Amino acid sequence: MTGQQIIKKARSEGRSLLTEIEAKELLKGAGINVVDTRLATSKEKAVSISKELGFPVVLKIASADVVHKSDAGGVKLGLGTAAQVGKAYGDIMKAIKKEYPQAKIEGVSVQKMARAGVEVIVGMSKDAQFGPVLMFGLGGVLVEILKDVSFRIVPLVKRDAREMIHEIKGYPLLEGYRGSEKVDVSNLEELVLKVSDFVDKTPDIKELDLNPIFAYSDGAVAVDARVVLEDAS
Ligand code: ADP
Ligand code: MG
Repeated sequence: MTGQQIIKKARSEGRSLLTEIEAKELLKGAGINVVDTRLATSKEKAVSISKELGFPVVLKIASADVVHKSDAGGVKLGLGTAAQVGKAYGDIMKAIKKEYPQAKIEGVSVQKMARAGVEVIVGMSKDAQFGPVLMFGLGGVLVEILKDVSFRIVPLVKRDAREMIHEIKGYPLLEGYRGSEKVDVSNLEELVLKVSDFVDKTPDIKELDLNPIFAYSDGAVAVDARVVLEDAS
C-alpha cells in the first residue's frame, strides 16, 4: 500500500491513530529505516512469521486502541524459540484483555529483535503558530526524566538537523561515552531531514513519534512508530 492508501484506509475505518505496522510502512515508504514488522492474526501465524524472520523476535499487541503497548503488558522482547513465541502470544492476549476489555485486537506484530544501540527519539507535533515542529532527543528514561530534547520548525535544512542533534546535553553519549557505541551522527542527521521532508509533504499527519530509534556506528533503525492523523475535513 502507498502512504495515501494507508491513510485513506485508517480514515475509512474512522481511526485517527495508525497501527504500529501502518506507521512503519508509511515511514519505510519515505525512505526511513524501520524494523521489518508483520501482522500475525493467530498464534500459529506468529510462530511461522518468527521462523521466516529468524529468532530472536519481538511480539507486540496490534490494536489501534492500545497506544502504550508495553505499559499494558503488550510487548515481549527477545523470544528465542517457537515455544517462547507461542507463550508470549497467549500472555499478551491475556494482559490486554484484562487492561483493555473493550479493545479491538488485530493480533500481534512480529519483528526481529534489533541489536541494542543508543536509543534516540524523533517526534513531530503541530504548533498553533509555527505549524509542524520536529523534536530530537535521547530515548528511554532520559527523555521522560531529563527532557533533554531540541526543537526545530519544519522544513529543516541540513544545518538545523546538525545543530539540533549537537545541542542536546546528552550529545557526548552519541560520541561513545565510557564504552557506549560511537554513533554515526551524519546518518542521524539524514534521518531527521527525511522525517522533516516527509511531514512537510504529508499534511494529513498531526503527530508522529519514532520512539525509540536504535542508533549504531553504521546506521540507525526505528523499532517503534506512532502516527496520529489530522481529523478528516
Ligand atoms: P511502547 O508502545 O510501549 O512504546 P515499544 O514498541 O516502543 O512499545 O517497545 C517498548 C520497548 O521495547 C522499546 O522502547 C525498546 O526498548 C524495546 N523494543 C521494541 N521493539 C524492539 C525491537 N524490535 N528490537 C529490540 N528492542 C525493541
Ligand atoms: Mg515506543
